[in-house]
Amino acid sequence: MIIIMKSHVADSEIAAVEKKLQAMGMGANVSRGIERTVIGAIGDERKMDKEALEALPGVENVVRVMKPYKIVSRESHAEDSIIDVRGIKIGGKTIQIIAGPCSVETQPQMDSAAQSVAAAGCRLMRGGAFKPRSSPYTFQGVGVEGLDMFQKAASKHKLPIVTELMDVRMLDTFLEHKVDVIQIGTRNMQNFDLLKEVGRIQTPVILKRGMSATISEWLMAAEYIAAGGNHNIIFCERGVRSFETYYRNMLDVTAIPVLKRETHLPVIIDPSHAGGKAWMVPALSRAAIAAGADGLLIEMHPTPAEAWCDADQALTPQELMTLMGELRGIAQVIGRDLG
Ligand code: PEP
Ligand code: MN
Repeated sequence: MIIIMKSHVADSEIAAVEKKLQAMGMGANVSRGIERTVIGAIGDERKMDKEALEALPGVENVVRVMKPYKIVSRESHAEDSIIDVRGIKIGGKTIQIIAGPCSVETQPQMDSAAQSVAAAGCRLMRGGAFKPRSSPYTFQGVGVEGLDMFQKAASKHKLPIVTELMDVRMLDTFLEHKVDVIQIGTRNMQNFDLLKEVGRIQTPVILKRGMSATISEWLMAAEYIAAGGNHNIIFCERGVRSFETYYRNMLDVTAIPVLKRETHLPVIIDPSHAGGKAWMVPALSRAAIAAGADGLLIEMHPTPAEAWCDADQALTPQELMTLMGELRGIAQVIGRDLG
């Protein structure tokens, strides 16, 4: 951290900064120039209180030199990390398409969905048993029973399951039901207690971007999980709030190259919650793969019109199959594959 003092700074003000740094367990390197005095703080700046220094008299500006996130940063780990989900690799050459319904509904619905996910060539399946709905009066998910239905349907096709955890009190139940990948939804990206709890286990976590979160806030949320010891984190961009009303959210494709530069962890895209309409999903999926995403999280329902949640954005089994074919072509052009 570099502390830039105001011009005509008093010696006592410089001494006060040195004293404050000392109290924070940091060293100080004072460099007196003709116009300005600059103080270099020596020590782990991530533990430093920037605001407390900025508030001192005579301080003009405080500049961080390190990234505030450590474990998840590319700075700390140059190679791409590959997350292993029961032998299926996320983050390597192979792009993974995770598909399935928005919500677990019934056993026949899940059986049929699992069959279509596998037939399309997808290697992982999604489905929410607990749903974060905007209205308390709409369907909230079938609950624990849904985890059983999901496992039963997916295991027939050896598909690892991805499902959302909303409440920290359900974590043990998720572990008992052998959930393969825990999804943290957009509304919980900054639920720090939840992040800390999934940080204490080793189950891979898909961390969705908060709908109004900056990339830096998102990276810090991932750091919460990593700091607890769980480094199996997958970033998922699902569209951010914008002024536009034509679609549900604005897919931030730019976040893909930015994250690829800032972190070694895999990045996937959810085109379904971004566009909010099934007809937008193929275009957004193609863009995501072309831009370097390591995977997609797509909503597919055996009969979309009958879906209990997000009916408008679910692909049919046939549409998923067709899309997989298109994505294979794009993957090949950029030197990747779909497995
Ligand atoms: C979902 O994936 O079903 C979901 C609720 O997504 P998000 O948290 O991105 O809204
Ligand atoms: Mn949904």
